Parts: sequence; C-alpha cells; structure tokens
Amino acid sequence: MTHIAELLAAGPTTSFEFFPPKTDEAAAALERTIAELAPLDPSFVSVTYGAGGSTRERTRDVVISIERTIGITAMAHLTCVGHSRQQLTQLLGEYEAAGVANILALAGDAPPDDPEAAARGDLHHAIELVELVRSSGDFSIGVAAHPEGHPRSPDLYTDRRHLADKLNAADFAITQFFFEPAPYLRLVEGLSAFGCDKPVIPGIMPVTNASQVQRFAQLAGAAFPAHLAARFDAVTEDPDAVRALGVELATELCARLLAEGVPGLHFYTLNRSTATREIAANLGLAG
Ligand SMILES: Cc1cc2nc3c(=O)[nH]c(=O)nc-3n(C[C@H](O)[C@H](O)[C@H](O)COP(=O)(O)OP(=O)(O)OC[C@H]3O[C@@H](n4cnc5c(N)ncnc54)[C@H](O)[C@@H]3O)c2cc1C
Repeated sequence: MTHIAELLAAGPTTSFEFFPPKTDEAAAALERTIAELAPLDPSFVSVTYGAGGSTRERTRDVVISIERTIGITAMAHLTCVGHSRQQLTQLLGEYEAAGVANILALAGDAPPDDPEAAARGDLHHAIELVELVRSSGDFSIGVAAHPEGHPRSPDLYTDRRHLADKLNAADFAITQFFFEPAPYLRLVEGLSAFGCDKPVIPGIMPVTNASQVQRFAQLAGAAFPAHLAARFDAVTEDPDAVRALGVELATELCARLLAEGVPGLHFYTLNRSTATREIAANLGLAG
C-alpha cells in the first residue's frame, strides 16, 4: 500500500486521471490507454466518481483492479452528494480491505436530472468527507482546488479560506485545470497567506479540441485566455494543427510549472494517451 503523501515527499509526481468506462468497448480502450501510459512509470493514477454516485461500483472496481491487478498506485475519487455517512463508510471499508490507500475527497455536484441530490446527503462540504475518511482508516487524502475560485464561492478570499481549512485537514490538493501559470501561482501564494503550505498538484488538461475545452473551462470556472483562443481559432479547420498546438502549449505550461518547483503534474487524460505521452516525451518524463 503506497500513500501519495509519501510519494509527494520524495519528489515531483506524475499522475493520470481516468473516468470509469460505461461499456465493454470503452473498458477495453481504457485498458489500452493504461498499457500505453504505464511505460511513463506514473507515481499514481486516479479514477473519477460520477455525479451523485452514479458510478459507485464502476469507480470502485476500476480503482481496485488498477491497484491490485495492474500494480499501479490508484486513488479513488469520492463525493458527498446524495450519500449517507453509512454508505460512504462502507465504500471506504471496501477500499481499505482491497489495499487502496488514497482517496480524493470531494463535495461533488448534483446530477442535472436530480438537482435536490445534494440536499439529501449527510455531508455537504468536502472538508466533512476529509474528516470522515481520516477517521475511517489509514488513507492519504487529497482535495480539489480551484485556482480561479470555485464557481459557487462568493469571492476569492472566502474560497481560499475554506480551501486552506480543507487542505490543512487533508494531505494534498489537485487543481482544476488552468492554462497559464499565474492562476496556479496566485493560488499557492493565497493558501500560504492562510497558513497552508501543503502540496498543491497542478491539473493539466491538454487541449486537443478547442471548443470542447472552452466549454469545460466555462463549467469549471477556468478562464480560457483570449490570446490562446485566438491561436486555436487560427488553425480551427485543421484538427492535427489544433492537437499539435495543444501539446505545445501544455508542454510549455508544464515546463514553467516544473521550473517553479511544483510537487507534481496531474494529467486529465479523458481516457486517451497520445497527447499526454507526447507532452511527457517533450518534458523528458518518459520512463
Ligand atoms: C481534481 C478534481 C477532481 C474532481 N473529481 C470529481 C469527481 O470525480 N466527481 C465529481 O462529481 N466531481 C469532481 N470534481 C468536481 C467537484 O466535485 C466540484 O467542483 C464540486 O462543485 C465542488 O467540490 P469541492 O470538493 O471543491 O467542494 P468544497 O470544498 O466543499 O467547496 C464547494 C464550495 O463550497 C464552499 N465551502 C467549502 N466549505 C465550506 C464551509 N465549511 N462553509 C461554507 N462554504 C464552504 C467552497 O468555498 C466552494 O465554493 C473534481 C474537481 C477537481 C478539481
């Protein structure tokens, strides 16, 4: 059992995020992606949890299979929305019994077709889940951070204050994606001002489809800078050029972040390997 807190203490980590596949075909594709990324020797990988617990069993099964069968340290995402304390404790017990030692504790969002789900859960903020996970076993606990503030936060000061409290109770944070170093550096500085110096791993989303990323960015409260949008607009008719530009910009962002001494890089892979492998090769991270 490897704790991510220990990996972070040993030097910059490289990690990949996946979502649990819905079909046999998607499961086979994820298996291929993991096999293609394995030579990069990731420190750990993580698997998301569907809104409102919609992927409870699938997330659990994929996490346990990666940890036990493939032998890569795996982290399970887990959310409060719509869950009783007892349901969460049971799932944590299953992870502990299977040797999964890492949990990303999140508030989550209500699924679009069930807006009341959040109100039905026993826990409402991620910090309550951090406390529950801490009291449930020997887990390393990560939390989510939003460099430009969570969309539900009334202001950045309040956002940072809640985040510092949450992160101080946890072991590390992973950020929502962003496109230039400044928002990340301001986040780390802001947390430090609140007395929180725990590791904050930047989340990297390679842009392979500019309109899709602009939509994601809007939902996540991340600004897609106009000067970058203009560069994508200039090659919009050529999907290969869009991808190449996305890889070039993500490589540049990662290099600048590594030069700033970030504790690791966490790649949102969307269950595909090519862009991440190209960025890792450009950075000389390939194992
Ligand atoms: C790396 C990463 C991975 C993610 N993975 C998933 C996933 O697998 N599944 C999924 O459904 N979603 C996932 N999300 C999205 C996340 O669940 C949403 O952003 C959600 O809206 C907020 O989650 P949180 O854990 O940041 O919440 P919180 O930390 O609870 O914050 C949510 C809002 O509540 C405020 N707040 C926090 N504590 C308090 C308090 N004590 N009192 C008053 N206000 C408070 C915060 O300031 C913020 O505005 C992920 C996000 C990131 C960055």
